[in-house]
Amino acid sequence: MKNRQVLPENASFETLSVRAGTVRSAEREHSEAMYLTSSFTYDSAAQAAAVFAGEEEGNVYSRYTNPGVRMFEERMMALEGAEEGCATGSGMAAIMGICMAHLKAGDHVVCSRSVFGTTVTLFAKILAQFNVSCTFVDLTDLDQWLDAMQPETKMLFLETPSNPLGDVADLEGIAEIAKAGDALFVVDNCFCTPALQQPLAWGADIVIHSATKFIDGQGRCMGGIALGSKELIQPMHLWQRAAGASLSPFNAWVLLKGLETLKLRMDAHCRNAQQLAWWLAEHPKVVDVHYCGLPHHPGAALARKQQQGYGGVLSFEVDGGRKAAWKVIDGVQVMSRTANLGDTRTTITHPASTTHCRLSDDDKQKAGIVEGLIRVAAGLENVEDLKADLERGLQEL
Ligand SMILES: *Cc1c(COP(=O)(O)O)cnc(C)c1O
Repeated sequence: MKNRQVLPENASFETLSVRAGTVRSAEREHSEAMYLTSSFTYDSAAQAAAVFAGEEEGNVYSRYTNPGVRMFEERMMALEGAEEGCATGSGMAAIMGICMAHLKAGDHVVCSRSVFGTTVTLFAKILAQFNVSCTFVDLTDLDQWLDAMQPETKMLFLETPSNPLGDVADLEGIAEIAKAGDALFVVDNCFCTPALQQPLAWGADIVIHSATKFIDGQGRCMGGIALGSKELIQPMHLWQRAAGASLSPFNAWVLLKGLETLKLRMDAHCRNAQQLAWWLAEHPKVVDVHYCGLPHHPGAALARKQQQGYGGVLSFEVDGGRKAAWKVIDGVQVMSRTANLGDTRTTITHPASTTHCRLSDDDKQKAGIVEGLIRVAAGLENVEDLKADLERGLQEL
């Protein structure tokens, strides 16, 4: 017999992240089984017909459903407080899936200018091919969101805190604008994860994740998910079946392991980032530090209200532009020179020439991506080693 773990109604976040969604197979394994199979079998032709018709519970084909993928969806639903979830092969597939499920030709999207680069490409180029238009606005300027609304506006999209400056959106304020315009409010919650922020509770309709980042947490596999009400996610399941953007059962298993330690890891990422931010703020060779956990940051008050921690990503500026920033980056020994984040390993990046290299000079200016800016995504190494490493880099100046 299958055995579904039943948890008390008031189970807390840590308990849910270890146990929610677990369904044991007839073998009664303790940790989740991995279902590496493309299709499923039946006792009889009649049973096959019943499962295909949806009259009997069961799986058909892993492009549609897979028990391991479903466990991942159900655990994420519990953590985000969502009624339904649809997992995908990557974070971008989750964003695309929500767009395909809810947008049609002639519709309009309002999107924060400070979103993941590929998300900008998706709205500005890919969806434009299908006559879906997009206006990009300043994340923190509610007037710009309001002014951008049109009768055709069907979706508002943002990330908070932003990458790499840590700007914080007023989720309740933007939810109100979306509601008044009868548009969906979609939040990419990749940087906070539900351990630090639950956007549905602040009025978002849909939450998106690149599970590739903090949810896996070890930089090992790709995945994504969109979560919300049954009514809003069901059409995405239909798209998913047709489009085949499914999450691999192996990746779902890896991501379930990641979720078990999510709270512990996020608290440690936040602690390391916070300590690095304070240390950098006092450093004579550092001109400015951007981290919403610093009291002078413009998003500090909102972050305190909406988040249970300030996240693992910070950035800082040095004098001397690109040359100086590259010297610091080339001078570190422990940190990884890579653009990824949400990993146990701390990463150091020069946004202007990597993650944001495709922006025009004007757009870089608008987004605050100056040449002397360096992003650090704090991992789980000892923070004293990380400070010493940044000191090594800064000594090159
Ligand atoms: C990485 C990332 C994505 C895209 O996710 P993939 O898993 O790489 O497709 C989307 N949003 C944010 C904020 C990200 O950091």
